[in-house]
Amino acid sequence: LTSRADLAVIEAARAPFIGTRFAAAPLLAGPVAGQAPQEVINPASGAGIGQVVTASAADVDTALGQASPWAAEAATRAGVLNRAADLYEENFGQIFALLALEAGKTLADAVGELREAVDFLRYYASEALSLTAPPRGRFTCISPWNFPLAIFSGQIAAALAAGNAVLAKPAEQTPLIAHLAVSLLHQAGVPAAALQLLPGEGDVGAALTSDPRVDGVAFTGSTETALLIRKAMVENLAPGAPLIAETGGMNAMVVDSTALPEQAVRDILASSFQSAGQRCSALRCLYVQEDIAPAILEMLEGAMDELVIGDPARLVTDVGPVIDAEALETIRAHIATARREGRLIKERDVPETGTFAQPAVIRVSGVGEMQREIFGPVLHVATFAAGQIDQVIAGINATGYGLTFGLHTRIDDRVQHFVEQIHAGNIYVNRNQIGAVVGSQPFGGEGLSGTGPKAGGPNYLQRFTRAAGGEAGSPGTP
Ligand code: NAD
Repeated sequence: LTSRADLAVIEAARAPFIGTRFAAAPLLAGPVAGQAPQEVINPASGAGIGQVVTASAADVDTALGQASPWAAEAATRAGVLNRAADLYEENFGQIFALLALEAGKTLADAVGELREAVDFLRYYASEALSLTAPPRGRFTCISPWNFPLAIFSGQIAAALAAGNAVLAKPAEQTPLIAHLAVSLLHQAGVPAAALQLLPGEGDVGAALTSDPRVDGVAFTGSTETALLIRKAMVENLAPGAPLIAETGGMNAMVVDSTALPEQAVRDILASSFQSAGQRCSALRCLYVQEDIAPAILEMLEGAMDELVIGDPARLVTDVGPVIDAEALETIRAHIATARREGRLIKERDVPETGTFAQPAVIRVSGVGEMQREIFGPVLHVATFAAGQIDQVIAGINATGYGLTFGLHTRIDDRVQHFVEQIHAGNIYVNRNQIGAVVGSQPFGGEGLSGTGPKAGGPNYLQRFTRAAGGEAGSPGTP
């Protein structure tokens, strides 16, 4: 996205897919029973963009019966995953169209997501070459809608790279992009019995995590769902079956009075409102030192007024819709409570059609007051006095979550102090707190935010094998 030519190429490649009807269905090694088709909705417009046939209970049973680990040698598996990465890149027009139409992604987000998916495929392909332990067997991979290509593909690529048979359950909101991804993986050469797609709601996920034929589960989604899955696994699966979970966060950022205000505000804005706040890493609670709080808030409110909110397919859009009406309702209710209680500092107007949540700022005493992750463009702000740093750290750690943490300061010792004291898998200093780089900056949380090991990092693939030590912590917290 660095030149006009690139943009023109992207626009031309995705244009044929805008307005097309898409279809998704279970992709099984054998015949599909399926359920009545349902319409898939574009969150930006409310219009139907295609249909999904979801998996029936019979399909889950069939898939488990037919699942067969990928017997090919590691070098062959790596070659196929690299070929799949090529196919993802070649099909960027359709992928960008679907990420906008089905997931409400801006083009900037979609570009980042495709790059991450491709990086996962290539990175796990190369890591597979040094694996010596055998696969676990049948691996269930359950993913969220907020990275319907990158996280979906990353989990599958890891399980396949290790030689497992994968049963993939995408989020109910994003079956079309999942269907395309699995089709491309099959086209690259992944055998049908080693990768089966089972679109559906949580009941399909529940069936795929409570059947004794399953040998391990990779899950990314909310902490609440992870806890249900852990319980189902403990009750039904063989002891030692691993749960690799990446879950939610109550992510904080601390801005002290030595921070550069313009830089801090730019990073607060990106961390809170990019992807309409629908990133697990997104900033939820800002702690700003009281002497600079008025200046920071004034700048932040001004910058919020500049955000372009609307159709994610338009190149100028900064903030797209939230994923569906249910998500919008939860966010609106949260903002309404703050408004009633006189804690709403700022909110933006949004388009009336589509599920657009108003970017908002809410005053709180600390992150503990939030009680739960609000998955949208809502920033909570607390202030602290010079002598209260350790109180702030204790408040952040007390949530029990530990995904991302951001710090803006120009005091060396303070950076060291936070890095030592804060429980978070990913710490960002003097920059925004989004993003991870497959291979060099792996991503994962602690406590209620995930089991580890970090995705896109060394040792991640071990958990998908029967390597010694692979049992550690099974089935893991959360
Ligand atoms: P979710 O937990 O509602 O759903 C995730 C997946 O679990 C979906 O495919 C869903 O159908 C399935 N599911 C639901 N109930 C189930 C059950 N009982 N058994 C098995 N599977 C079940 O989460 P979501 O709303 O799709 O995603 C948003 C959440 O994901 C946020 O909490 C976010 O923080 C988290 N997330 C975390 C990371 C990370 O890397 N830590 C990344 C992205 C998203």
